[in-house]
Amino acid sequence: MEAPAIVIAGAGECGTRAAFALREEGWDGRVILAGAEPSAPYERPPLSKAGELKPICDHDALRQAGVTFLAGAEATGLDTAAHVLELADGRRLEYRSLLLATGARARRLPFGGAPVHVLRTHADSQALRERLAPGRRAAVIGGGFIGLELAASAVALGCSVTVIELGPRLMGRAVPARIAATMAERHIAAGVDVRCGTGVTGLAQTASGVAIMLAEGGTVRADLVVAGVGAVPETSLAEKAGLTTSDGIVVDARFATSAPDVFAAGDCCRYPHPLYDDEPLRLESWRAAQEHGAAAARAMLGAAEPYASVPWFWSDQHDLTLQVAGLTSEATREVVRLRPDAVEVWFGLAPGGRLVAAAGVGPGNAVARDIKVAEMLIARRATPDPAVLADPAVALKSLLRTPVGA
Ligand SMILES: Cc1cc2nc3c(=O)[nH]c(=O)nc-3n(C[C@H](O)[C@H](O)[C@H](O)COP(=O)(O)OP(=O)(O)OC[C@H]3O[C@@H](n4cnc5c(N)ncnc54)[C@H](O)[C@@H]3O)c2cc1C
Repeated sequence: MEAPAIVIAGAGECGTRAAFALREEGWDGRVILAGAEPSAPYERPPLSKAGELKPICDHDALRQAGVTFLAGAEATGLDTAAHVLELADGRRLEYRSLLLATGARARRLPFGGAPVHVLRTHADSQALRERLAPGRRAAVIGGGFIGLELAASAVALGCSVTVIELGPRLMGRAVPARIAATMAERHIAAGVDVRCGTGVTGLAQTASGVAIMLAEGGTVRADLVVAGVGAVPETSLAEKAGLTTSDGIVVDARFATSAPDVFAAGDCCRYPHPLYDDEPLRLESWRAAQEHGAAAARAMLGAAEPYASVPWFWSDQHDLTLQVAGLTSEATREVVRLRPDAVEVWFGLAPGGRLVAAAGVGPGNAVARDIKVAEMLIARRATPDPAVLADPAVALKSLLRTPVGA
């Protein structure tokens, strides 16, 4: 009889990285990667940017790594006592260890009245791209990353675009106000009609398109509507199996869930972060999903080290790139560095002066170096001199020479 496999449910960024990492870590038993989507694993970030399909790997690469890849294989049941994952087509996969890497799904608007696009999958992207054409009016409900990236893409494709955001400013969840304001200016300069502090109360299909009714009165008229109102962690399988969930599948710092030999990682999990007093975090970040996959693979093979990487993400909008490291919500004081090359870097300090977050915006990849240094300082729990942080004449990396903790 074959020894039970390591089974991974969800073939996105996290699940796929975990499958390869198991081999890199020396696991020579069976690996089964079961993904609900019909295609080979692909990257999500390009869907809201250039819009092309960018594979993570192809079927051959999976075969060569000895990974049994099951496409169109939705996991619908989990028997944690019997160590069996059940697929929608009736197959039962016995596991030694199971990784839930089920990601997240796009949140929907709470009302109907007209068709509304969302953007999470390649199928969503295809449906949307078919409708983005020169002269079309696109309304994006939600001024977060995905909505704003899509707004920039739609403008580049010749659409006229309105962004409707309920909050007082764009990207209110994870980006400091100052950096968000720079990005808002760039959208406005590109011709995007940015409306913050504006609620939507309903939609109606009319002969000339969709009417979007606003809380303040009035309507926005559009040919197509996209909701970019966040993502909901895909926890239904875990919940049905009785695992602990709380806006995410709850795991420890090794990605172990409340059920024996069941792990969860990527967008679907909520994990304690040692840099932030073990506060449980749920991230939606491409790099975190990859790192979680690799760390969960090591944990499934018995490694004990906790995962402690600094949260990091990026967003491309028009010709600007935004990068954020750490948690901006932890900051109580801010310092800004204005570089002569039009790059703006924001630093967030906690009480006591510890650097807990940094965010930068600028053309191309110009922010990368400073955010990388900031990330290293955040990981070291450094308390850098605010005057040095603010002074663009002093290389940020000089702060790395300061003893840790100073
Ligand atoms: C349009 C878009 C743009 C983005 N841009 C950026 C960016 O610029 N920068 C950044 O840092 N991050 C970005 N992200 C976020 C990043 O892509 C995600 O954080 C990352 O994809 C999460 O990986 P994951 O594997 O955890 O989940 P996912 O990529 O969501 O993959 C989960 C997979 O599991 C499958 N699945 C779900 N349930 C089941 C089941 N029961 N059985 C089998 N399979 C199942 C799903 O179909 C899916 O294929 C973007 C996301 C989107 C949607």
